[in-house]
Amino acid sequence: MLAHNEPAQVPQGDCARWVQDRIKPAQIEKYLDQGRCFIDAAAIEQALAANAQPDAGRVREILQKSLAIETLTPDETACLIHVQDPELLAEMQDTAAQVKTNVYDNRIVTFAPLYLGNLCVNNCAYCGFRDSNDSEQRRVLGMDEIRREIEVLAGQIGHKRLIVVYGEHPQTDVNYIAETLKTIGDVKVKTRKGWGSIRRCNVNAAPMSIEELKVLHEVGIGTFQVFQETYHRPTYERLHPQNTIKGDYLWRLYAMHRAMEADVDDVGLGALLGLYDWKFEVMGLLYHAIELEARFGIGPHTISFPRIEPAHNTPLAQHPEHRVSDDDFKRLVTVIRLAVPYTGMIITARETAELRREVLPLGCTQLDASSKIGIGAYADQESDDVQQGDRQQFLLGDTRSLEDVIRELAEAGCITSFCTAGYRCGRTGKKIMGLLRTGQEGQFCKLNAVITFKEWLDDFAGPETMAVGETLIAREMAQIKERMPEFYEQFVSAYHKTEAGDRDLYF
Ligand code: SAM
Ligand code: SF4
Repeated sequence: MLAHNEPAQVPQGDCARWVQDRIKPAQIEKYLDQGRCFIDAAAIEQALAANAQPDAGRVREILQKSLAIETLTPDETACLIHVQDPELLAEMQDTAAQVKTNVYDNRIVTFAPLYLGNLCVNNCAYCGFRDSNDSEQRRVLGMDEIRREIEVLAGQIGHKRLIVVYGEHPQTDVNYIAETLKTIGDVKVKTRKGWGSIRRCNVNAAPMSIEELKVLHEVGIGTFQVFQETYHRPTYERLHPQNTIKGDYLWRLYAMHRAMEADVDDVGLGALLGLYDWKFEVMGLLYHAIELEARFGIGPHTISFPRIEPAHNTPLAQHPEHRVSDDDFKRLVTVIRLAVPYTGMIITARETAELRREVLPLGCTQLDASSKIGIGAYADQESDDVQQGDRQQFLLGDTRSLEDVIRELAEAGCITSFCTAGYRCGRTGKKIMGLLRTGQEGQFCKLNAVITFKEWLDDFAGPETMAVGETLIAREMAQIKERMPEFYEQFVSAYHKTEAGDRDLYF
């Protein structure tokens, strides 16, 4: 029996028809340049080969360009990719950390992944949700079940921001996505001193048409993420069967162009590391960022660089063909920060706590915590298992709670920001690009970070975290007084209102 509000099951024939109509060739061809796409594999290989022996003087010049928050060229990026000398690498890491501080100060954004269904018509060789994986238990959450997930996420853990994840299937089509975003946004839960809710829903879903993306813009989507998986087309076509929607490399490559046209101007790029040479993937991400900047004046809001994790009954995920070592992972995080200096960078709980600690200072700005990726897993009080292999896409490396992560960050001097004001005040797309490049976004963000951090402490923190958090807040407030005296009075007033139980105040 279907749960209340659960999406109706789609008959086989209708499902096949849905699959056939998904790709709109005209919404690919209009972006091609004389039939060619913006990923020029030969040029990427050539840039990598030509810059294989980087000169220290040149590397230092390039670092100055990153410090000026300018996007690097392919040749410059290829040069950084090849640095082997430990001293020069350390200089690159220091500069990456400096760039991050200049753009984002000491703020870290936290979020939770929320998987709403694992039905999928595709057959990606690395994914536990692929259609041919018979051992996966399939489920799509109905609206009541989603409300229960949000009650835990926003009412017990204290998350304000989600990445909501969907397979590609007619049962979880754009109408389902739109309805789920509304449902999530409507849940308000009483907390210790105020109330909790999800204020920003980023979405990770399959590529869509411009018309569908307009629907999501209307309901108020946050960042729209589509990972290209691999920019190397022959590898892409081998791992994504050609008789599936996902098999179309170009439909996916131009997903963000269509998003921009639909006014969804916060977009998230990503490559799934392990499918092909990471050096090529970093260059692919850079080409993608340069293309979006050139065509729309807006680069990626975020870049993700997940490594393949083991997935239930999925041999390729157990043994990725181009496994990325921890050392190479740290290098590529450093290079991405330097090459696209304004972008947000996401390090997910796929990675272990130890590695996340190491790469965070190299340039990452967002991380998830208290994460569960089983369908319905947050509200599932019967199971103590954080990991449920046959119900999730892959296994997690870091299962620490949000509170533990926040406390550790605060001890290291980083403030967890739950600010979601940016897109609600129209600070997205071109506007946010300008603010990030000039460091001005930081002004509003600092005020909002302190207020939202205070909200979280008052509503969710235990005594130890509270003490560490209050010390950090005192330091931040002193800085605000010194650096932004013109805002101080207004800020203190919002702070006191928050302390008294007001919620969701922002600048
Ligand atoms: N189904 C949509 C799609 O593929 O575009 C979006 C959701 S998919 C569940 C989100 C991302 O998970 C994929 O883009 C892929 O990069 C990543 N992923 C898939 N299998 C993975 C694995 N075994 N380990 C780590 N990440 C994986
Ligand atoms: Fe489906 Fe996405 Fe998994 Fe591919 S990665 S099988 S499209 S859920």
